[in-house]
Amino acid sequence: QAQSQSVKTYVIGTDITFAPFEFEDINGELVGIDMDILAAIAKDQNFKYEIKALGFNAAVQALESNQVDGVIAGMSITDERKTQFDFSDMYFESGVVMGIKASNDTIKSYEDLRGKKVAVKTGTEGYRFAEANASKYGFTIVPFDDSALMYEDVKTGNSAACFDDYPVLKYGENQKNGLKVVTEPEKGAPYGFAVSKGKNQELLQKFNAGLANIKESGEYKRIVDKYIGDNA
Ligand code: GLN
Repeated sequence: QAQSQSVKTYVIGTDITFAPFEFEDINGELVGIDMDILAAIAKDQNFKYEIKALGFNAAVQALESNQVDGVIAGMSITDERKTQFDFSDMYFESGVVMGIKASNDTIKSYEDLRGKKVAVKTGTEGYRFAEANASKYGFTIVPFDDSALMYEDVKTGNSAACFDDYPVLKYGENQKNGLKVVTEPEKGAPYGFAVSKGKNQELLQKFNAGLANIKESGEYKRIVDKYIGDNA
């Protein structure tokens, strides 16, 4: 009895496809830096969890309504979100960049977007950046719920570009996903693990303690290198 009570199972929401942080491998299993970090931290801190791959916006909404205990989804620690959520220590640097079709040689900067469409993912920092700059550069926003559809829209040529996080678009370019990065990263917030404000504080503390331990042990670096290291 005492033992079954001591190990709690947390429900953690995540994105559907956001490589290298979470994505399905060839066996249909959800893998990635976020998934491996969470697994390593749970092992280190002796807790269990169940993953719900809901999509980014849906995962954030599920956290808002307390349908999940936490979210790990390459989620940027923004000041606006900090009013609703408590974040762990940061675990990865990021910033928004512009991605275009790999074979396109005409779009080099935001100025080249005038009169064109830009694909973005609802609820993300890329979306916010597009919103803040649409009238300045004269482009129209095309919203999507997941990254795969957003990228597809750029590859088919309907949208001239997309705005997404640097580590994600650069990983895609290196994997030859049909897109390339053409701008320097905008100043952005790093990624953190989130819980609802004032809720699940013991989970947040375990996450931070585990993160410190896996950084110290070298496990964090092994995980990152596995996906984006020189021999990845
Ligand atoms: N880092 C971005 C954000 O927090 C995008 C996250 C995602 O698409 N999974 O808004």
